[in-house]
Amino acid sequence: KGLRGTTGALPMERPRPHFIQLVFVDINGIPKGMEIPITRYEEAIEEGIAFDGSSIAGFQGIEDSDLLFKADPSTYAEVPWEGIARVYGYIYKDGKPYGADPRGVLKRALEMLEKEGFNAYIGPEPEFYILKKNGTWELHIPDIGGYFDLVALDKARELRREIALYMPAFGLIPEVLHHEVGKAQHEIDFRYDEALKTADNIVSFKYIVKAVAEMRGLHATFMPKPLYGYPGNGMHLHISLWKDGENVFIGEDGLSETALHFMAGILKHAKALTALTNPTVNSYKRLVPGYEAPVYISWGYKNRSTLIRVPAFSGNGARIEYRCPDPSANPYLAIAAVLIAGLDGIKRKLEPEAYVETNVYEMSEEERNKAGIETLPGSLGEALEELRRDKIIKEALAGAYENFIAYKEREWSEYVAYIESRELPLETKKVTEWELERYFYI
Ligand code: GLN
Ligand code: MG
Ligand code: MG
Ligand code: MG
Repeated sequence: KGLRGTTGALPMERPRPHFIQLVFVDINGIPKGMEIPITRYEEAIEEGIAFDGSSIAGFQGIEDSDLLFKADPSTYAEVPWEGIARVYGYIYKDGKPYGADPRGVLKRALEMLEKEGFNAYIGPEPEFYILKKNGTWELHIPDIGGYFDLVALDKARELRREIALYMPAFGLIPEVLHHEVGKAQHEIDFRYDEALKTADNIVSFKYIVKAVAEMRGLHATFMPKPLYGYPGNGMHLHISLWKDGENVFIGEDGLSETALHFMAGILKHAKALTALTNPTVNSYKRLVPGYEAPVYISWGYKNRSTLIRVPAFSGNGARIEYRCPDPSANPYLAIAAVLIAGLDGIKRKLEPEAYVETNVYEMSEEERNKAGIETLPGSLGEALEELRRDKIIKEALAGAYENFIAYKEREWSEYVAYIESRELPLETKKVTEWELERYFYI
């Protein structure tokens, strides 16, 4: 069967779906949900639908796990290839917003921003690999194209277009599709939007990409570093703040003071932030020199060796590009943490160190020290230690903080136990089978 011939000509008048999926994400950002007959949709909006949260990663223990899902009708979409609808929503417990609900965490972080008069707009650049698992964990690479390759080597271009054609059904507007640097690595960018909408869009995007790849007998992975020696998957975030309909990052000549304070806030909290923007063991296999992924805490104009880049812009395009995040991040938690870090910079009027014009990877340690350039955490374990020390990020995560740390510390110690059992060095940047098994479907 396959999809060919059906995309781009999706039936305009579909029968009304019989079922609707009520979707939320767990602590890892993985979509979870239950399906109800569409006849209960109204009830799902007004009263909510009760469910058992005990087996959802990072939620409640079995002794107290009654939760309630309330649909947010502004997110309603129909899944074209399944003939069902799906909707995102918020989770409640005992009549109150549930603290560990990632979407609720972001909502509250945005309210903190709104209190200061700000709205955040975010545009992501998610990257992914199209791979096959060959029985064992030997990965099969079905396409040998490289950066911007168009035809001969790029077998996945039709798949990319199919993904893009399905995106509008979920409210995403595709903007750029291209082959990435790695063999079988791709990127599809979609239009920036308000922070909550963008976080929803990231969840939808990963879902669409995986579903379409699966329909073609392939597998899309958002693992930050599926293959040692190949480029990793990043998910750069382009961020701007707005007040009364105006982009407040626009300065007289470049970025505004507000933008610089915001950026200084992110740089100040960068170490703790990695626990959220790079939340897997595998994330730290990506953050190594040589693959356009950040390692050092610095910023620059146009400079892609820095953690934050200020892209050339005109008018409303004033923004910063945060290059650390990868697509294994829970988008709600990561965006909440990054925005609150930036807001802290604005409130405290922090100033960033001088910008860097040279390639940071080529600076010596001494040069970096002189320029005040620190290094990002080298592992999930280190990042979690930083997170434990950061009061501001703790506040940003509110009710999800303890659950997140507990869940991730367990993940880290399981990895450490694996490494020790194999007698491998803990600092290894090689991608282990443990990671492939755990994160291939992320
Ligand atoms: N893949 C790179 C990363 O890990 C980004 C490459 C690019 O988009 N310039 O972030
Ligand atoms: Mg890009
Ligand atoms: Mg890219
Ligand atoms: Mg980019």
